[in-house]
Amino acid sequence: MTEGEMLIALMEQDRTLDRAIKTLDELPEKQAILKLRHRLKEIEGVADKARAYLKSANAMVARAADEVATVQAKIDAEQAKVLSGRVTDPKELQNLTREIDSLARRKDQLEREELNLMEKAEAGEAQVARIEATLAEGRAREASLIEEFKAHGGEMQTEIARLKAGREAMAARFDPRLLARYERLRETKRGVAVGILQGALCSACRTEIPAGQCQVLLAGPEVGECPNCKRMIIVRPEGS
Ligand SMILES: [Zn+2]
Repeated sequence: MTEGEMLIALMEQDRTLDRAIKTLDELPEKQAILKLRHRLKEIEGVADKARAYLKSANAMVARAADEVATVQAKIDAEQAKVLSGRVTDPKELQNLTREIDSLARRKDQLEREELNLMEKAEAGEAQVARIEATLAEGRAREASLIEEFKAHGGEMQTEIARLKAGREAMAARFDPRLLARYERLRETKRGVAVGILQGALCSACRTEIPAGQCQVLLAGPEVGECPNCKRMIIVRPEGS
């Protein structure tokens, strides 16, 4: 094999390898996993908010229940005074009765508020349960996608390893300086280090090389340099 043929073979191997790596990266399962994880993270955020809401609603219910109990204790105390018989002054008794009535009204109002808060807490609890069910579903889906990715991607990873081994074997046969030049160009020229002179055209940059420079290339070595893109250019003998 000539240097030019070796360069073309290496370039083709690299192209196949790059394509395989790209295909693995773009596997629908992988994309689906990434998308699903993004969505799950969003749902986690919503779940956190719903849990915080439920916590504060429960705290408000507890506070309302405390207030009801406090008012009830006051009512009990006032009623005990009335029942004790120690209060004999009619005016004072009337005041006590009025106080008890007012406390009872206050208690009714507080109990209504407590019920409203309990409804909110219950709605919050149902919301949290719904979100958690969605999360559980999403995580199960993620697990099955990971299994699919392992099965599908596993074959491709084996293929990529095989291509890499083949590439290394090829590279080992190269003149180290030529290989270094190839690698450098691959890095700086978006993965394509070599063009082929096709008529007056560089196959890498698709630019027509002026006739004079073309003559120079044709008269020169098999591995030249494209005057336009500065990649290596393989100059084949006419008719090959
Ligand atoms: Zn070129």
